Amino acid sequence: MVGGDVTGEIEKLYAAVPQIRNIFYVINKIGEGTFSSVYLAVARLTSGEDRKFALKHLIPTSHPTRIAAELQCLTVAGGEDNVMGVKYCFRKNDHVVIVMPYLEHDCFVDILHSLSFQEAKEYIFNLLKALNRIHRFGIVHRDVKPSNFLYNRRLKQFALVDFGLAQGTPDTQIELLKVLQTKKQGSCSQSKLHTISGNIPVPRGVVLPSSTKQSVKRHWSHSQINPGNNGKEGLLGGSTQRSVFGERNFNVHSAAIHEVSAEKNIKQAKITEAASRKLAAPKPVSTKNTSGGVARKAASAGPTTLTCNCYARDQVCSLCLARNRQVAPRAGTPGFRAPEVLTKCPHQTAEFVNLVAAIDMWSAGIIFLSLLSGRYHFFNAADDMNALAQIMTIRGSRETAQAAKQFGKTVLCSKDLPAKDLKTLCEGLRRLCFTPTTGSECDAQKLRAALQLKMIENQDGWFVEDSDAAPSSSNIFSRLTSAIDPGKSNMNGWDEVPDEAYHLLDRLLDMNPATRITSEEALSHPLFKDLH
Ligand code: ADP
Ligand code: MG
Ligand code: ZN
Repeated sequence: MVGGDVTGEIEKLYAAVPQIRNIFYVINKIGEGTFSSVYLAVARLTSGEDRKFALKHLIPTSHPTRIAAELQCLTVAGGEDNVMGVKYCFRKNDHVVIVMPYLEHDCFVDILHSLSFQEAKEYIFNLLKALNRIHRFGIVHRDVKPSNFLYNRRLKQFALVDFGLAQGTPDTQIELLKVLQTKKQGSCSQSKLHTISGNIPVPRGVVLPSSTKQSVKRHWSHSQINPGNNGKEGLLGGSTQRSVFGERNFNVHSAAIHEVSAEKNIKQAKITEAASRKLAAPKPVSTKNTSGGVARKAASAGPTTLTCNCYARDQVCSLCLARNRQVAPRAGTPGFRAPEVLTKCPHQTAEFVNLVAAIDMWSAGIIFLSLLSGRYHFFNAADDMNALAQIMTIRGSRETAQAAKQFGKTVLCSKDLPAKDLKTLCEGLRRLCFTPTTGSECDAQKLRAALQLKMIENQDGWFVEDSDAAPSSSNIFSRLTSAIDPGKSNMNGWDEVPDEAYHLLDRLLDMNPATRITSEEALSHPLFKDLH
């Protein structure tokens, strides 16, 4: 059934871009994000056959170059290897509608628990295939997550969609992504736009809006509110009970990221800071708190003296939150962001510019983590600091600090958090999904007890600790495992997950983008030997 609201919106779409009415019958709205609405429509082909299409109506305030770049990604790289293609594009004034083949798809969270291991493996393989295709074209998607990777389980069809945040590698074949890069490095001067709009290669003579007066800097947005499949994907309306980490209510607190802490790191950090300052003007909270100033004082006094305002308090202080905004380009949704994005590594520095594609591989790793553990969203932090704190609890604090050091950032975490074994972690969480009891609430509580992490205050500052404080309970997962009897009947292959799966997961979730597995390497991983 199409509600009154939707009928009204469809009417508005027809009114904004009247050509649509001549060709399509718009049936329903199937997606709504911050920057677009997506509709299902049918068109009668000359053969007399009716065919379904997805119509993506971009918000009229989207930047013309951004829109053109999204289209160019679809036209150049799309239509093959699980990358969505494009059929037509319509424009009237500043309204643009991209017409794509329609792929009916399952909602990730609905099917997650019923997928067999083989299906999970096929899913991640097909995602890697799509990433490999776009990376070969020098496109970094930057918003890889289930609602942007359509999956039709019955037909075994897959499609990577939504190039609205895409970025180019230095050698990108997408001309317009080069333009966006250039723009990003300078101030957001729009004077160049008119000159480039003359040779925007878009499908079939489409003319793009030349108006640049109302630009929304979509490519710089910090997060995208994307209810996707009727709100099931959205971070705001999302189902937090399914996450391993909830948002604020789980009382997870972040470790502070300080640009400088120990004397020995100062030189390195200074270099990086200088580089990042060129790109992003610091946004001081007060005149005292300009970038690094306070932290630098703290550094000379030794690592235990944190002089930001959240030291020994139950909140991330405004100084630390402001650090979040002093950022070089970042992308996507906090729970899928790579550590180098969370720690604000300025990708434009010579050292990191070639590693940008690695951020998509991290996001694929987070999806694989959900598939293997049966938990979605796995990480569900409201902001970058908490997202990093959550990563730390899985990958280890020392490992996180070490990786951050590569980007010239110092991560302070006063308690040593060991890295968790991925196999033990996933198997423990999976087992909870398969528990044949009816007490799902009870399971949820056990899970929460097992995984809730909170910041404990003591003289040394903040640290993250497993909420289960019993000193002897070093391995909560083995206790869980013995407490819960898995349903033995149909394990769908989950009782025989090969170690290769966890090896690939570990390689995707490599904290260091320089050594993280690439899409090409991942495709020839031994896990996929039966899929070639
Ligand atoms: P946004 O930039 O607003 O996130 P997307 O391109 O991700 O827009 O599309 C939003 C949603 O619309 C997707 O999550 C998906 O559910 C649906 N959608 C997008 N393209 C298609 C398509 N070609 N076929 C079917 N559904 C689609
Ligand atoms: Mg999307
Ligand atoms: Zn602070």
